[in-house]
Amino acid sequence: MDFITVHCGVTRETAKLATNGTRLTGVVSRGGAFTICWMRANDRENPLYERFDELLSICREHDVTLSLGDGLRPGCLADGSDRAQLEETAILGELVLRARSAGVQAMVEGPGHLPLDQVAPNVILQKRLCHGAPFYVLGPIVTDVAPGYDHISGAIGGAVAGMAGADFLCYVTPAEHLGLPSAEDVREGVAAARIAAHAADVVRLGARGREWDDKMARARAALDWDQQFRLSIDPERARSRHHPGGEGDRACSMCGPYCVFSLLGTPAADRR
Ligand code: SF4
Repeated sequence: MDFITVHCGVTRETAKLATNGTRLTGVVSRGGAFTICWMRANDRENPLYERFDELLSICREHDVTLSLGDGLRPGCLADGSDRAQLEETAILGELVLRARSAGVQAMVEGPGHLPLDQVAPNVILQKRLCHGAPFYVLGPIVTDVAPGYDHISGAIGGAVAGMAGADFLCYVTPAEHLGLPSAEDVREGVAAARIAAHAADVVRLGARGREWDDKMARARAALDWDQQFRLSIDPERARSRHHPGGEGDRACSMCGPYCVFSLLGTPAADRR
């Protein structure tokens, strides 16, 4: 097993902050909502928090990595970076230290929904509060008005989060908020998340991160279509959208006979 998500940071105190009427969408994590229902029904503290040491000993015995879930993550832009989210993150930071002391690997889940200008600060804050633990973001989605296109909204947030230091992007599909994703929805969502992750890698890894792009740029300038398809993030999609045009069909139908690479020839630059 690679990792298991546990909602240990939803305590009786932090749950109150998300259910006291100050949020537009309250609690949107299913695991967080289950945990709150259990605590209310039993009038007891979250057992995953109260008995965290026992959980750690099980994880250590079976070499399980913990994903410390954000049961109180914001479910809309208006709830982003609020007290419930930050209090829970602080608790998760304490649990990261306890996990490390027990020899258990732990990463931390993050939002969710955030305005674009809060994405990078959230990554920086999480890294500080959670002692540099790997940060795993769910998108984040940067607008609430794009149902049907939430894979794009999530990829925008994911690229900014990745650039700021997030370590793991959870893909979002076009069916988010609307229904169970189909296989095609999953394909679209994974492609969007891969684009976001690579865009962040280009910035974080410098020239090494851009090698793939440089190869594509050369293939594009050389009108080498097979190489362009091979290098595409989704070769099948790229091949299906290709419409040859221009003299000898070397160009594509966008500019046809006025293809700049045909008019001026292939540049010989070998810039790094
Ligand atoms: S025709 Fe235009 S779009 Fe197509 S390869 Fe040439 S320059 Fe690019």
